[in-house]
Amino acid sequence: MARRNKLIQEYNHDPYFQKEKCTDPCVCEHCGVVFHDGMFEWLAKVPANAGKISCPACKRINNKYEGGVLYLEGDFLSKHKKEILNIIKNTEKIESKYRPLERIIEIVDKASKMEIKTTYEHIARRIGEAIHRACKGELTVKYPEGEKYVRIYWSRNE
Ligand SMILES: [Zn+2]
Repeated sequence: MARRNKLIQEYNHDPYFQKEKCTDPCVCEHCGVVFHDGMFEWLAKVPANAGKISCPACKRINNKYEGGVLYLEGDFLSKHKKEILNIIKNTEKIESKYRPLERIIEIVDKASKMEIKTTYEHIARRIGEAIHRACKGELTVKYPEGEKYVRIYWSRNE
């Protein structure tokens, strides 16, 4: 119950969440996430009376309205790109299982640099931490003042 309340609180400030005028329950027509008992969940069985919506995560992905961004750079990145991409994808899989609106919007791969945009700040931070844990290097987390947004910088030169 505590996790549920915390999740609802977190998304309360999200304009994409508040704009959502969905009846409870309802299901996203794009990704299948279900809004049920006041929160978004992956359900094996969609309730028969569920209305249809576009969920906040799909809207953000569609509008490229990110809640977090990661900037990766350095020689280590060019040499270990496959490994780092795996960390990114695995972290997304783990996080979005329990927080269905936390997703990757896009990954822009520019040789020695990479930019990853995410729907919300939580997953961006988790990806940054996972890369830092596995690959060391330098990790900087910045929350621009007054914004519900995060910028994360990771680099390693070798
Ligand atoms: Zn969706």
